Amino acid sequence: MNIVKSIYAARLKDSERLLKSSSGGMFWVLAQTFLHGGDAVACTVYNNSTKQAKIQLLIDSAQLDVAQGSKYMQSIPGDSFRQCVEWMEHHRSHKLLFVGTGCQAAGFQSFIEKKKLRERTVIVDLICHGSPSPRLWQEYACALEQKNHGKIEMVSFKDKRNGWNSPYAYVKIRQSEIPISDYVNLYYSGCILRPSCHCCPYATTERRTDLTIGDYWGIERVKPDFFSPTGTSLVLIHTDVGEKAFNAVKQQLYVRESTLEECLQPNLTAPTPPSEQRDWFWKTYYSHGLMYAMNKLFRAPFFQRIKQFISKDRLM
Ligand SMILES: Cc1cc2nc3c(=O)[nH]c(=O)nc-3n(C[C@H](O)[C@H](O)[C@H](O)COP(=O)(O)OP(=O)(O)OC[C@H]3O[C@@H](n4cnc5c(N)ncnc54)[C@H](O)[C@@H]3O)c2cc1C
Repeated sequence: MNIVKSIYAARLKDSERLLKSSSGGMFWVLAQTFLHGGDAVACTVYNNSTKQAKIQLLIDSAQLDVAQGSKYMQSIPGDSFRQCVEWMEHHRSHKLLFVGTGCQAAGFQSFIEKKKLRERTVIVDLICHGSPSPRLWQEYACALEQKNHGKIEMVSFKDKRNGWNSPYAYVKIRQSEIPISDYVNLYYSGCILRPSCHCCPYATTERRTDLTIGDYWGIERVKPDFFSPTGTSLVLIHTDVGEKAFNAVKQQLYVRESTLEECLQPNLTAPTPPSEQRDWFWKTYYSHGLMYAMNKLFRAPFFQRIKQFISKDRLM
């Protein structure tokens, strides 16, 4: 494992691109720099027709739009690792940037090391709360389409219009925005993450990758003068390769040095714990379907709703 060499809070100077990013735009600036230099990027891309997130090899910066933003589902590797190797074998003077969750980055790293291509890669992993089965999102998205009589044209799990601290999640169907906060709440409930996410070995600051990126939680507390409602990335540099990659894009960022004590957050110290309602949720899902299980999970208990009703009545 590599111990952390240095830590930064960073934010893209390009405000338009920053708004499209989930946090401070570290992914975009790294990917853009690689693609401009004729190098390649492998990362997660969302497809509206299949309703799936997939790891894809990108060689053109026009493809970056669909890669921006967090997607709250497990992305499928498919044969992307093999495609990366093929591309590297055909472009021997070029490098490849891989960006994925800790488990995906570890899988890619083992694969590329076996192919003896590690020295031509920069591997970046994300701080990760965990990822749910892609099937749940597909079911949810299909139910939304049915209810709203149209196809989903776009998805945003973390729109920053109300500020990075209060992200808004929605889909667009027939040009109308439909909130998907119930799906996002379900994601954060600890009921639907893959069982392996609850014992994730990558929920630590010590990684084998070159860089780790995530949201700089608590920046308003530890560096109030650097806080911005448009989001800030946390960057952990683990290797010389990671440091070189960060220095190459530093000019395009507002940057502040930081420390481990300042930046620690739950998924840098331990995996997300499962909810006590996890087993109940899955039993209910298998017997009654996703929408029923989700409504039941979030419905306040009967006596609480009566109490709310009475207190509202009294206020009027
Ligand atoms: C499922 C998930 C959980 C996360 N949990 C946390 C957390 O607990 N704490 C924290 O600090 N940060 C977390 N992050 C990371 C954070 O939300 C941002 O994704 C990260 O900081 C990159 O943001 P950005 O502004 O640099 O670029 P963005 O443009 O927002 O990021 C896009 C990058 O995220 C990748 N990506 C998007 N969705 C997925 C996916 N489903 N699987 C794999 N890669 C994906 C894309 O490939 C691309 O590389 C999580 C991200 C994801 C995807």
